[in-house]
Amino acid sequence: MPSSSTVRQSREALAALGVDPAAYTGGTLAAHSPIDGAVIGAVRETSVGEVDEAAAAAAEAFRAWRLVPAPRRGELVRLFGEELRASKAHLAELVTLEAGKIVSEAQGEVQEMIDICDFAVGLSRQLYGLTIATERPEHRMMESWRAAGPCGIISAFNFPVAVWSWNAALALVCGDPVLWKPSEKTPLTALGVQAVFARALARFGDAPAGLSQVLIGGRDIGAALVGDDRVPVVSATGSTAMGRDVGQKLASRFAKAILELGGNNAMIVAPSASLDLALRAIAFSAMGTAGQRCTTLRRLFVHESVYDQLLPRLRKVYAGVTIGDPRAAGVLVGPLIDAGAWHGMERALGDARGLGAHLSGGGRREIAGCADGFYAEPALVEMKAHEGPMLRETFAPILYVMRYRDLDEAIALNNAVSAGLSSSIFTNDLREAELFVSESGSDCGIANVNIGPSGAEIGGAFGGEKETGGGREAGSDSWKAYMRRATNTVNYGRTLPLAQGVSFDIGE
Ligand code: NAD
Repeated sequence: MPSSSTVRQSREALAALGVDPAAYTGGTLAAHSPIDGAVIGAVRETSVGEVDEAAAAAAEAFRAWRLVPAPRRGELVRLFGEELRASKAHLAELVTLEAGKIVSEAQGEVQEMIDICDFAVGLSRQLYGLTIATERPEHRMMESWRAAGPCGIISAFNFPVAVWSWNAALALVCGDPVLWKPSEKTPLTALGVQAVFARALARFGDAPAGLSQVLIGGRDIGAALVGDDRVPVVSATGSTAMGRDVGQKLASRFAKAILELGGNNAMIVAPSASLDLALRAIAFSAMGTAGQRCTTLRRLFVHESVYDQLLPRLRKVYAGVTIGDPRAAGVLVGPLIDAGAWHGMERALGDARGLGAHLSGGGRREIAGCADGFYAEPALVEMKAHEGPMLRETFAPILYVMRYRDLDEAIALNNAVSAGLSSSIFTNDLREAELFVSESGSDCGIANVNIGPSGAEIGGAFGGEKETGGGREAGSDSWKAYMRRATNTVNYGRTLPLAQGVSFDIGE
């Protein structure tokens, strides 16, 4: 497919999604396609003053939306899920064009949006509180969950649409309007999502204005959102550096933070592992999305007894993987997001070389018709020690590999980085599997057995520990972060007993 088609194709996808061309022509923010570097949109940016107006509109919307019964709020999300199903192909196409994902992964990302809508619709009838035994007679104590207020969502380029929906679908059923600051690298997909959401709103009928707004721009716009007192919850997905800044600012005004930050994820391949399964999992986890997932496999610890069986097979897979235009059939590895990502990869590989690592792959690949795209050969880096670039997240397809002798050592290595997002072990030994997911096993938010660290489904709570930020999104009870909890004690008796037997007799 000729690369000049990225401009035409994105115009067609935006038109099919119903985005007003005024939003992406003549603006100041250039949207690039990583496929060929072409400018595929000139997007109108939000000013800091407009963030203020948007926050005011969201606060106004909140006053009405919180009073709408939660199952009715769920109806809006149900309609949105329907609209997403109808627009799946076009939205996924735009994800491919703007984020460089291969077709199947882009479709998977939109499917994830649909899945979280389904989850949120059910949730809209399950915002359960507890009834708690009270020590006082003729009293009832209960916990109720109330809408928190407008929810800010700051998202990263690598999941340009799914991350917003994880937050928005839950926030909306919980009663919170949403304000979205997408990555400045992927503004078009955000416009596409909003157009789809607008159709759901039109069908819903009487939702308040300002329920879902998009704020286009860079970190200054994110910072304005983070600093706004009318936004009591902010979910921020991106680098640890971003989260450190955002988290501190939110803490200073006592706002709730849901932080989803960087990962440096590992896999352990134990002696009893099925190497066939491990090989497939490594390939997808380490090379999928060109190594640009927060859950990408970056560190591989292979037991010394199977290292020399696994590594030659892995090298072969790496050498044979199809790299190229992500729209083309058979391509598994698309482009890096931009030149900065490529330079980061070069830097990390240079550092590894300096430490005496053995490298295969890692060069830049020229793809016909995509001269200004940055296509990297996935790199396999056999390290002598757990050090240097292996200890940090480089957002590129680099897999560092090391031998290990015993499982305690491998678990210690798994845990010996500052990030704590995802991890996995391949083993058929029950004791090893259970140890890995036990108290003394992986310290990550996600710990898997016989599947790779990436490719989570929405039913579980998603997120990680340590410098990954501690936030949880998507399934399980993640919804609680979008609400405030009230403990209510009701006295239906004729006396006023105090808790803990305290006596306070005023003589009346
Ligand atoms: P990034 O940190 O550069 O940007 C993410 C978003 O934060 C963007 O919208 C950006 O404009 C905004 N931003 C940056 N600094 C800000 C600040 N100081 N104040 C307010 N907003 C600010 O990240 P990226 O390059 O887009 O994405 C890659 C990173 O995201 C990786 O580290 C990856 O691991 C992480 N990520 C984490 C998860 C997760 O769920 N844990 C998911 C996806 C991506």
